[in-house]
Amino acid sequence: MSSSNSSFDLIVIGAGTAGLPAAIFAAERGASILLLDAAPEIGGTLHLSSGQMSAAGTRLQKKKGIEDSPALHLNDIMRISKGTADPMLAGLAVNNAADTLDWLEDIGFAPLPAHPVKGLFHEPYTVERYVWGERMGKSILAVLRAPFEAAVESGAVTLKLNTRVSSLVQSEDGTVTGVVACTDADTGSEPEETFSAKAVLIAAGGYMANRDMYKLYADHPCYGDHSYPFNVGDALTLGLSAGGITQGENGYLTSFGSIMRSYDVPSKVRCAQTHWPHIRMPWEIYVNGHGQRFMREDEPSVDVREHVIQVQPDLRHWIVFDATTLAQAPDLIPDFSADQIKAAAENDEPMFYAADSIATLANKAGLPSKALMQTVADYNAGQANGKDFLGRKYMPRHIADAPFYAIRAQATTVSSHVGLAVNAELQVVRDDASAVPGLYAAGEALGRGAIMGSGISGGMLVTPALTFGRLFGQSLLPL
Ligand SMILES: Cc1cc2nc3c(=O)[nH]c(=O)nc-3n(C[C@H](O)[C@H](O)[C@H](O)COP(=O)(O)OP(=O)(O)OC[C@H]3O[C@@H](n4cnc5c(N)ncnc54)[C@H](O)[C@@H]3O)c2cc1C
Repeated sequence: MSSSNSSFDLIVIGAGTAGLPAAIFAAERGASILLLDAAPEIGGTLHLSSGQMSAAGTRLQKKKGIEDSPALHLNDIMRISKGTADPMLAGLAVNNAADTLDWLEDIGFAPLPAHPVKGLFHEPYTVERYVWGERMGKSILAVLRAPFEAAVESGAVTLKLNTRVSSLVQSEDGTVTGVVACTDADTGSEPEETFSAKAVLIAAGGYMANRDMYKLYADHPCYGDHSYPFNVGDALTLGLSAGGITQGENGYLTSFGSIMRSYDVPSKVRCAQTHWPHIRMPWEIYVNGHGQRFMREDEPSVDVREHVIQVQPDLRHWIVFDATTLAQAPDLIPDFSADQIKAAAENDEPMFYAADSIATLANKAGLPSKALMQTVADYNAGQANGKDFLGRKYMPRHIADAPFYAIRAQATTVSSHVGLAVNAELQVVRDDASAVPGLYAAGEALGRGAIMGSGISGGMLVTPALTFGRLFGQSLLPL
């Protein structure tokens, strides 16, 4: 290991959503910052993210006459999470989110013209406070570049890419005084270098690219492959090694209805079903791995759908329908016509199945055939007498005309729910609530579960990541 005498006011681990604003604002305050990233470029998950943000009391809202407040935003998060979000952390995020959105606009961020919206793809907000840009996460990254590059050019920020932090340096009393980094992250081999600083901010994202860690915390495999490949859980490993503890364990939740590209676990998502009744009423039925229906398919609440799928085997369902529904119903999958569904099923493409009888369909789709036949018969009986045993209201037709189809859908998530526990100053805390001196964390390193609890509040990963990064650089970093 080679040693370095370089010493900074602040070391930021991760040049992504939280790390970039932290560096920009700390530089504005005159701090010297070392920003390390394992990847060959800055941006982190902003390269992949939908970049949807939510904030209350923004200039944009005021311009459009929308009345909102951080208190209403927090009420919504507590309502959506059924009281399971951490009000301290969620409160810190919503109280400071408007300043973040206003700042983004100041540096050139342009929300879509019709925004803000309530956001109907997750459980909706009560007020229009949800925005994103044309290029999703990349719209945010694009506007962060100029202030960040200015901070590097001024000499305030030293950026080292391809540099993965492997451990923290702690003094005898537990104070974090620096990091050890592998300066050739590609190979993971020597040389390692030690850097010291008065404060270290862990902004190294979650653990979505670490399948073992995902399974450990979720108790499910990571089905979807949509992670930033450098986010392998180092944030947690580093924070725990310094005495930190985890939070957010009760917040595991997946989205509904992804159709995967292959049977591999994880797999990329090929497409997704439209399961929102306000956009398209369901003509099909959904069955679980036992071949049984498990919810009314026209269930209006996204949150209910997301929770019900959590208790189905392997978090998956099969969408079952017949030839007449395929021909007559509105498109089930955006940008995927009925002819394409037919062709995919006839060609035995993964997740798509077709057969001339329900029994054969069940065999092809890996479902118990007797159970599926019974399920279809029961549904048809309910459809005929207008009384569905699960309370479904929208039943335009029965399932009767061969060929029959099934599409296997998977619940997946894009974020890690467990993270490092912090206090209101973003200091990493120990079991006894005392802070690990010198160590801070922001972004997905804090996990999704603490801020959102067991419910998905739109934009409440990107917004807190940017906001906590900004707050830390602007005021929380002790100088
Ligand atoms: C497909 C997708 C869609 C999403 N859509 C939304 C959305 O619309 N709204 C929302 O709120 N959230 C969304 N999210 C989640 C959100 O984008 C992320 O939670 C957030 O961007 C994470 O920010 P971060 O700063 O914590 O991590 P990142 O932005 O990922 O930055 C972490 C950085 O740390 C680096 N790093 C990791 N380990 C080390 C190490 N040991 N040493 C040095 N560097 C390291 C990485 O290379 C990376 O650059 C989405 C996520 C995905 C994947």
